[in-house]
Amino acid sequence: MQHPENDNQYKGLKVNKGVAAMPTINPYLKKRTQRKAYTVDEFVKGILDGNITILSQAVTLVESSLPEHQVLAQEIIEKCLPHAGKSMRIGITGVPGAGKSTSIDTFGMHLLEQGRKLAVLAIDPSSERSKGSILGDKTRMEELSRQKNAFIRPSPSAGSLGGVARKTRETIVLCEAAGFDTIFVETVGVGQSETAVHSMVDFFLLIQLAGTGDELQGIKRGIMEMADGIIINKADGDNIDKANLAASQFKNALHLFPPAASGWTPKVLTYSGYYNIGIKKIWDMVDEYLQFTRDNGYFTLKRKEQSKYWMYESINDSLRNAFYHNAAVQASIKEAEDQVLKNEISSFVAAHRMMETFLSDIKK
Ligand code: GDP
Repeated sequence: MQHPENDNQYKGLKVNKGVAAMPTINPYLKKRTQRKAYTVDEFVKGILDGNITILSQAVTLVESSLPEHQVLAQEIIEKCLPHAGKSMRIGITGVPGAGKSTSIDTFGMHLLEQGRKLAVLAIDPSSERSKGSILGDKTRMEELSRQKNAFIRPSPSAGSLGGVARKTRETIVLCEAAGFDTIFVETVGVGQSETAVHSMVDFFLLIQLAGTGDELQGIKRGIMEMADGIIINKADGDNIDKANLAASQFKNALHLFPPAASGWTPKVLTYSGYYNIGIKKIWDMVDEYLQFTRDNGYFTLKRKEQSKYWMYESINDSLRNAFYHNAAVQASIKEAEDQVLKNEISSFVAAHRMMETFLSDIKK
């Protein structure tokens, strides 16, 4: 063994060959986790066969920002589209702690018992900042996550709200092609994400809590206006009276809103997600709504409007990406920003110049 201390002249202890350090990572692990690279047709066939592993991998492609993944994802979506569109899509919102996961668990089990197949997706605007999704986590829906007819997927985490929502919209297509006839899209009731969810569902459920005496405070008017049904959770034990009181306050408040375009009058119901009370009434209401809007044509009209909305959203998203990833834009945008901060040019002039930079660069 080559080592200065092993020289014959050296008087000290000799260095013996030791035991080689074991690799810290199991060399077989990488091999095992490497995914088979499916072709578009294999993906589509797997999805149409209801293969959940392949569905999950396709959703991962949809969520990926790598251009080659996006190309593949778009081809898969296009081939799945003719098999999609037949589910009922329900948006569910409520502030943290309102009982969304508990309720989705109970609602989900109720629907599975009726022979339905349920996909639970989420749009979580906080996940971008916290780098971790708080919604759609499997551990939050204990019962449901063990069922083979339920597919639970956390919120895509990267990108703008528009980008995240678009991915969820595309995931709906894949889930429907895989045979899921009920789609839940969950979001936290704190901001803009409701609008995104509202633009991809047929029915919008708002989960509320009773008990503060000021139920109507803190609820954005816009969110209440979007709701097709307001359901007051935790109507159990000592809370039943308070829940009923809140229900009548909500009913009164709803009268003040202009009639909805659907012609449907939003209902207010009380229930307990935890104790499984009043669940059937909620799903009867959803069925009634779907029947009502199918009969008056609003169901189809809304879906068409939504398709149009997503076309423009996708264009906006692509334009934004193309602009900000453009090398000429990236090379000069900081300078333009500095000039604006120093009051050397106005925001509008700066924006105009950046657009010129972009447009002349892509013409080259
Ligand atoms: P999320 O943040 O909206 O998903 O709310 P969770 O489902 O995590 O529920 C928040 C808390 O409320 C948990 O401690 C639940 O156990 C509790 N909870 C949820 N639904 C009910 C209910 O129907 N009745 C009662 N008493 N507690 C509930």
